Amino acid sequence: MTTVSACWRALTDLVLGADARVRRRVRLSMIAVWGYSISSVLLVYAMQIGLVARVPGEMLLAYMWVGMTTFYLLVRTDWSTRLGSPGMDLPQCLYALVAILFAYAITGPVRSSVLMMIALVLVFGMFTLSARQVFIMGAATVLGLGVVMATLVQLYPAEFDPKLELIKFVLAASTLPAVSAVAFYVAQVRGRLVQQKAELRKAFDRLQDIATRDELTGLVNRRHMLSLIQQAMQRQQRAGEGFCLALIDLDHFKRINDLHGHQAGDAALRHFAETARAELRQTDTLARWGGEEFLLMLPSPDPGPGGALQALGRIREALQAQPLADGSLRLGFSAGITEHPAGEALDLTLERADRALYAAKAAGRQRTEVLPVPAPRERPLVKPAQV
Ligand code: GH3
Ligand code: MG
Ligand code: MG
Repeated sequence: MTTVSACWRALTDLVLGADARVRRRVRLSMIAVWGYSISSVLLVYAMQIGLVARVPGEMLLAYMWVGMTTFYLLVRTDWSTRLGSPGMDLPQCLYALVAILFAYAITGPVRSSVLMMIALVLVFGMFTLSARQVFIMGAATVLGLGVVMATLVQLYPAEFDPKLELIKFVLAASTLPAVSAVAFYVAQVRGRLVQQKAELRKAFDRLQDIATRDELTGLVNRRHMLSLIQQAMQRQQRAGEGFCLALIDLDHFKRINDLHGHQAGDAALRHFAETARAELRQTDTLARWGGEEFLLMLPSPDPGPGGALQALGRIREALQAQPLADGSLRLGFSAGITEHPAGEALDLTLERADRALYAAKAAGRQRTEVLPVPAPRERPLVKPAQV
């Protein structure tokens, strides 16, 4: 069963493409393949029973299959996107329209039935064309039909009775706009849905941003950091890769507020966030933990506590190199680093990081202390799932 489904998957990947968007477009093009295939079978039969002459019949067959293959390849290889129409929707509809009008000219007594195929093209258009394109398609259909009928009446007056053609044209020209109007309406609704979906997506992204980011610094907020840490703890249980935490507290921050004002304090917090982010790797996560406290999570053992120490050293240097305000204000911080061993409750790890931070403050600030994880016997036992 698995081999069968793997083979099926490989086959559909080959025919439809692996990319979801390309697959959707190729699937829609399959409606055209269906229409052309049925028409081809009927056309070959009509040629065999002498209803359609050989040369024009073969010309129409060639026209249909060359077009169908070309459009399939363009959409399947995504060349269509480079040509400015990813689904080749309007070109496919117009191409099919020409095929139908051609068929109308050569199919003798069954020609009126051929016109029904126009409905198939319009249904295809309903789901693929924009409202403006449906309008173009509707106009092209009525105009094309008029031109073809008039030409046929002129060229073959014995076969095409002007009065009959006029009746057929008026009938088609009055029903087609109704079908086009429905297609136009559906296309408009579709357009609105697409627009609403984009707006909802934007609103959702914005809400997610509000829920997960700290407004002042743009860093991950405390709530989201807690869920990221929990995810890291689950990964650690499954895959073994751990993490370490660094609790960072800006030194004498109160003074900045007191001497330069609260706004300068806010700017200093933003400056710290920007500077730190520039010195960290993609795999490190920095959160505003509260006030002028930040929590950094890094994978362990690589870079682990040693790497965290180096990263904090780089941030400290960068802060020294880029003073704030009039150049007199240099931000400093103290930090405490510790590792999170698998199975330990998060509170215990945070408490150890806090103790390390306290030690750094007590030792004179502007430094980082690392507190190693106590040996398992000295650690309180907790259930692995507990956070
Ligand atoms: P220490 O070196 O011991 O950490 O000294 P400190 O002055 O940094 O410590 P303390 O915790 O006494 O002061 C923290 C200050 O941070 C107090 C608070 O007004 C300020 N603060 C907290 N959040 C914000 C904020 O969002 N904006 C501004 N401007 N200040 C903030
Ligand atoms: Mg503090
Ligand atoms: Mg502080």
